[in-house]
Amino acid sequence: MAYDPDNVFARILRDEIPSERVYEDDEFIAFKDIAPAAPVHLVLIPRGEPPTSLAGLGAADVAWAGRMLVAAGEIARLAGLEDGGYRVVFNCGRDAGQLVPHIHAHILGGGDLGAIAGGN
Ligand code: AMP
Repeated sequence: MAYDPDNVFARILRDEIPSERVYEDDEFIAFKDIAPAAPVHLVLIPRGEPPTSLAGLGAADVAWAGRMLVAAGEIARLAGLEDGGYRVVFNCGRDAGQLVPHIHAHILGGGDLGAIAGGN
């Protein structure tokens, strides 16, 4: 899928749409989800024009994608989620309900998140 430079996260990166940023570095930003699905719900995105979803990643993406996972853990720690635990979710495509075509990770925590994929 071609990258749409007017998707909502691209516009957040350009500050055309306000967001409550909680983290930024040279490669990534994280902000509060506008419709939180948990007491703490953050969205982590790469800067620039990344693949639209996990399905677009290839061998050339291994390094930054790894750093994105490291950043997710750091952001969760900064948000105070380390003790209670948290969940990191990449929605990919229609069946997962992916709405925004700019790869992103949801960081969810701050309370019991319930079971998923065989947990509990
Ligand atoms: P997904 O369904 O994985 O594509 O998730 C997109 C997420 O972006 C949803 O959880 C939305 O609530 C969130 N979202 C959409 N617009 C905004 C916005 N302007 N600021 C913060 N979060 C947003």
